[in-house]
Amino acid sequence: MENILFPFWMEIDAGNLRHNVEVLKNWSSSSLMAVVKSEAYGHGWEAVKLLYDYGLRKFGVASVEEAHELRKRGLRGDIYLLGGFFTEEAETIIKEQLTPVISSGEELQALEEVARRAGKVISFHLKVDTGMGRMGFLPQEINDEWWRKWGGNHNLSLRGVMTHFASAESDPAYTRFQFDHFLSFLHQFPESNPSWERHCCNSAAFLSFPEMHLDLSRVGIALWGVSPWGREAAPPLDLKPVMRVKARVKQVKTLPPGFSVGYGRTFTTSRETRLAAISIGYSQGLFRSLSNRMEVLIRGRRAPSRGNISMDQMTVEVTEIEGVKKGDIVTVVGKEGKEEITIEEIADLAHTIPHEILCSLGKIKNRIIYGNHCSLA
Ligand SMILES: *Cc1c(COP(=O)(O)O)cnc(C)c1O
Repeated sequence: MENILFPFWMEIDAGNLRHNVEVLKNWSSSSLMAVVKSEAYGHGWEAVKLLYDYGLRKFGVASVEEAHELRKRGLRGDIYLLGGFFTEEAETIIKEQLTPVISSGEELQALEEVARRAGKVISFHLKVDTGMGRMGFLPQEINDEWWRKWGGNHNLSLRGVMTHFASAESDPAYTRFQFDHFLSFLHQFPESNPSWERHCCNSAAFLSFPEMHLDLSRVGIALWGVSPWGREAAPPLDLKPVMRVKARVKQVKTLPPGFSVGYGRTFTTSRETRLAAISIGYSQGLFRSLSNRMEVLIRGRRAPSRGNISMDQMTVEVTEIEGVKKGDIVTVVGKEGKEEITIEEIADLAHTIPHEILCSLGKIKNRIIYGNHCSLA
């Protein structure tokens, strides 16, 4: 057995994930789709299995590639393809029983052809663009001609309709405009089928506008216990962070005043300064723009970044922290005693949204799952 330590690793708090699933389920009578694109927002595909264990049966991904990865890992349940597909992938959609969300006639054409050849019926949802300006049909494209062409097709089965909000976290007026637009668009669809699903909410809308939940809500960031509003506002529910990131102290040393630290010499000591080099850097997803801004926790205290973050290491000041030594564990994201470094804090310092920080830290593949006492699968 070799003695090897992880220089950096991610801890997944399964207990907190389970708590979040419960809290989110109780918040709404709509059903929940766990949006798990980008490897479950950086938490790793294993985390999707936990969601299944905790009772969720609907999952949203960005691509056929992601859906395929999940099926390969044995995930059952409904997988919704939220981000469309390429024509060549239509067959895989049938084979792996995915539910595509359709944005164009081209996609319908491709699906219809493979479904007809295979003698199968494919369930799909329709995506309508009420103001996002990205994927989806414009409402006026779903006209008489569209219904004549696709309405009676025997190989395609329309099971739901969705739209996506452009700024649910920051612009309630625009969100209401999009929602009203969506409701009036929905009038043309028969609602007789009990499995019919109308959906528009992401986490921010789900938490802010209960009247918009409809049949299904697509929840991403809230599952992971991170606020869609960043540091500006906590969610109305008691959600708990699932991801922790750790590294280690590699060297502690004291520099005299007037000594510069790191590439580009962006920090110079003004006094005798004790520094710790730690084993994590931008290749693990900590943006270089966090240099001289972010802090980490060592021995329960905040240690500020000094100098530029490098590829696999960064330097923090520990002048005020007693007893720091080589090998000490450093909390980059997470809690130690009363202090906590959150994803929201890092996002704020990097001038971005928490989603991007989670995905970026997803580069860390050493993952340890804590506290998973449940397995219903
Ligand atoms: C990513 C995504 C979501 C989830 O967004 P969060 O802000 O993370 O809740 C919902 N719907 C669609 C279509 C998405 O692509």
